[in-house]
Amino acid sequence: MQIDFKLSPSQNETRAVSDFLSSLSDTDLLIETKAAIKTEREATAAVVRYFKEINDRELYLKYACSSLFQFATERLGYCAGSAQLRINAMRLIEALPETEAKIESGALSLTAAAKVQSFILLEKKQNKIYSTEEKRELVDACLKKSTREVERELAKINPDIQKIETLKPVGRDRFQISFSISEDTEVKVKKLKGLLAHTNPNMTTEELFDKLLELGLEKFDPARKADRALKRTMRSNVTTAEQLHPCESFKSGKTAQSIKADQSLQPNQAPASACSIVEADNGAGYPKKIDRIVRSLHAREMEKPQNLGARDTRARSISAEVKHTVWRRNENRGCEFVSGDGKRCGSQHALQIDHVFGFARGGVHSLENLRVVCAKHNRFVWREKRCRPLTRTGSARAR
Ligand SMILES: [Zn+2]
Repeated sequence: MQIDFKLSPSQNETRAVSDFLSSLSDTDLLIETKAAIKTEREATAAVVRYFKEINDRELYLKYACSSLFQFATERLGYCAGSAQLRINAMRLIEALPETEAKIESGALSLTAAAKVQSFILLEKKQNKIYSTEEKRELVDACLKKSTREVERELAKINPDIQKIETLKPVGRDRFQISFSISEDTEVKVKKLKGLLAHTNPNMTTEELFDKLLELGLEKFDPARKADRALKRTMRSNVTTAEQLHPCESFKSGKTAQSIKADQSLQPNQAPASACSIVEADNGAGYPKKIDRIVRSLHAREMEKPQNLGARDTRARSISAEVKHTVWRRNENRGCEFVSGDGKRCGSQHALQIDHVFGFARGGVHSLENLRVVCAKHNRFVWREKRCRPLTRTGSARAR
């Protein structure tokens, strides 16, 4: 038998409810609201009971779901948070059957029950096993308390447990991050939201988080720094061309300002004119001429003989221009280390520029000899080059 999992009221039902509500006096509206809350609690407890039966039968497998959570979100239409609340409460009821009546009566909210269960699981991960009696005491301590009061109650028992961060997918393109913050941080969140309220009066924490991430990336992302440097180079070259090498485009009356405007400050976009200062893109968003400019700046250094026996007079640090080109060439694709079977690492963690042929062995700061790798692969490559095992602190140990 095919089951339609959609639960949507008809238009007639919706209109009837709306007409009924608008006909109520203020007093009756509050009485009906309290009655609806009671019905909601009873219905929630019933849903939790149904969840338990579905789980016991592993019925979700029949409908191509690998878990009750997946079944609840993909088949029954619950959002991830609501599904998890009910599943956590179900687990608590499995351990303490009397909890069901407490949820149904409202003495223990569904959120409180879920938080208690989550706390017990987290404690278990830290090798603290709760006995049935201890679980019962925990539930009793959370009766008739708000969500925040329950959180404080649990934090009294283990203040560190709430600091655990979690990140999990909750949909095709959504993730849920969970972590606790201090009161000071909460004050900062509220203050910043308030300061930004003139542009977004209803800013969500996700929007605030995204804005802060953008600010952080703008400041710390080497690829973005490279983009800005490229913009400056392009502007500078256009000015130089205008001053020293007037060409047909200038003679035709096109000003430097209009040429700069043509570029629209797009770092990956080569200007269409300006004496061909930057040639057409090579197809990978990487202007060939800029590459050549950077190469020429370092040609002398690259041409130096790599004589290990001679006194090394090369500059230790890589120039900013070359670094920027290496970061732009990476195109945010992460660690460039490739294994023997052709798999690229791609990690974005602690990326740094590495010499393919080590600097200490005569490797130069050429674009061909530089690549972006993660910190772990940088250490791995360094260890391979040195043929020495690493200690736990990452320092080389002589054989
Ligand atoms: Zn890597």
